[in-house]
Amino acid sequence: MIRGMGRSAWDTESRKVIWVDDGAEGLPPGMAEGRYLCRACREKLILKGTRIGSKVQPYFAHRGGAGCSRSEKEALLDAADEVVIRLREQIRALPGVTGCTTASPGEDHMDPALMPPAVLARFGTTTVVIEAPPATPLGTETIRRRIQAVRDEHAGAQHVWFLKRDFGQFHRLAPQPVWLRGKNTLHEQVAPNEQQLVILAAGGHVYWLDGKAVLVPYGIRRFPHPVQRDQDWTNWRRWKSDPRDDWRISKPRPAPDAHTWGLVPIAFSSLTRTRGTFRPADAYQVMDELYAAQESRFNWRNQHAREVYAAATPPARAESDAKPVTDAPEPLESGQITDDAIVPPLLPQEPEAEMPTRAASEPESDVGSAEVEIPAPPAHPPYVPRAPAPAPPAAQVATPRLWQRLLRFTRRDD
Ligand SMILES: [Zn+2]
Repeated sequence: MIRGMGRSAWDTESRKVIWVDDGAEGLPPGMAEGRYLCRACREKLILKGTRIGSKVQPYFAHRGGAGCSRSEKEALLDAADEVVIRLREQIRALPGVTGCTTASPGEDHMDPALMPPAVLARFGTTTVVIEAPPATPLGTETIRRRIQAVRDEHAGAQHVWFLKRDFGQFHRLAPQPVWLRGKNTLHEQVAPNEQQLVILAAGGHVYWLDGKAVLVPYGIRRFPHPVQRDQDWTNWRRWKSDPRDDWRISKPRPAPDAHTWGLVPIAFSSLTRTRGTFRPADAYQVMDELYAAQESRFNWRNQHAREVYAAATPPARAESDAKPVTDAPEPLESGQITDDAIVPPLLPQEPEAEMPTRAASEPESDVGSAEVEIPAPPAHPPYVPRAPAPAPPAAQVATPRLWQRLLRFTRRDD
């Protein structure tokens, strides 16, 4: 770009950023009574090159033609704008989009927060305000101000933040091993920062955009299984780590007390698969499966702890354990994957079709089946959902029994 030929300006009349690449038709040329402002130096700009037959494309010029006095800031703003324009084009190309434009909720040229514009998209009756903030972390106050402005100007809209997988917005931790669809899988894991927690607490959605993939977070909360009177959790064969060390998922959004966030990768194009909505349905499906695997893992470990105890205890004391002690399936031997992900191979494979899948639209709840009571460690009080937890559906209570039956069935075969 030639020095002094700006591609964008703040339009004091429409209170939006104007990009000349989007077309300058209908905009008054010249000074236009001071309508156009430079966002970097806040000087009045002149719209040029709009005349029919003009030899140049339309552009904004600073007075005197010397260019912006704060050209570095101007370049940063332009770079942030480009990310938003690219995202807008990506969203426009999604199926089911009925409108897609840009807006700057809450931006005030007298007191600019200098956030890049947001993409305003409509999917049927749903309005989604989509942010793509720059890599430099925004201040918490800037985030709060934007959230409030979106509520004021676009009541009822979903507020979605697409962050970048880079240093400023992605605090990467060691990957989280999970048991998914019959095998051990690694999910990326991040430590959420203050801004991301603010967005979540306000009801917004934090996703990461990585090319054509979107990373959708769920909550991970670690805890040690409590030791029941008839359980032995020590010296489990082939377990290198403490089998009491476990974690529980919060979904479809991370709970405020989650220690870290695990990330489900999904295709960007799948976000509007359900007509008229904008929803990471594929990620919610995976989270439901992680929850089901968790319930089977909790059950298996608790049962195994009872079996280890019974095996080491004279029959008279273990009378209440009517079941004969047999060789339970051993955890898989695995290299770098920790025992966290290990569930006996039998359990999650067979009953998948019978797995209770809770609709992601249901209120999030960490409450499992009545048979599995895993209180959180005393150091961290258990997470209590804000809304009363729904009673677990009957199928959910029945599922562990189904697995136990399958387990016993297999054992008879052995
Ligand atoms: Zn300027």
